[in-house]
Amino acid sequence: MNRHDFRAPLVARAIEDATEARRAIAEAKAILLDWDGCAAIADRPQPAALSLMAARPDAFAIVSNNTSHVRGFFTDRLRSGGVLVEPERVILAGVETLLRARQLAPRRTMLLASPRMEEAARRMGLTLSSEDADLVVLLRDTRFSYAKLTQAANAVRRGARLLVGNPDRTHPSTEDRVMPETGALMAALMTCVEPSSADVEVVGKPHPTLFLRACAALAVRPEEAVMIGDNPDTDVAGAAPLGLRCILVQGPAGLTLQDLIV
Ligand SMILES: [Mg+2]
Repeated sequence: MNRHDFRAPLVARAIEDATEARRAIAEAKAILLDWDGCAAIADRPQPAALSLMAARPDAFAIVSNNTSHVRGFFTDRLRSGGVLVEPERVILAGVETLLRARQLAPRRTMLLASPRMEEAARRMGLTLSSEDADLVVLLRDTRFSYAKLTQAANAVRRGARLLVGNPDRTHPSTEDRVMPETGALMAALMTCVEPSSADVEVVGKPHPTLFLRACAALAVRPEEAVMIGDNPDTDVAGAAPLGLRCILVQGPAGLTLQDLIV
């Protein structure tokens, strides 16, 4: 089955009114917070996010499409901002993709990822090889190259399954710049294969895995939680089908995290 074409037309309403957003947070048993553009900008925790988390530290989980880092990176950053979050409450597309890869029990995995994610994959017991892979795992690989693209495209053409960390084309950076994301690499790869015959699975938002994992970590049902995100295509579109309410910050209405502080 081809599952990479996720952008089904979906009209999901996000909360963009400050009063309604504060009420939704007060009523929610759990709060899922996106990282890039919400909890942090360029991986620097934002003061408003830290204030929100400090007010109800046990209610929060980080839910991020990040595929470059393991959980400790985020818990360390938050701790330096004065907020303690258990690693189990940091739900990451990269880590979840590796867990999904292990579940598929491949013989050999071609992994396109950062060195630290390669290390995490080996620790999980995956056998990494760019030859004869029956599974290709694509995370944000800043060493992505023509040679890797050639190997991955041919592996997928030969029937290897493709597991992708997130569909995001870019993520925000400082000074009005963007950084290419995993979805940009997926686009390059999908251009080289026949999409209808490729077996593709995307793990990150808007797919349900990360949201459900976060709700399980906080022992709540999706309808008892609220998601705070800045991306209509991933945060809002992914939360809606689960009955998870979503507050959209930095959207057309101009709501900010600062507005959510009571
Ligand atoms: Mg974001």
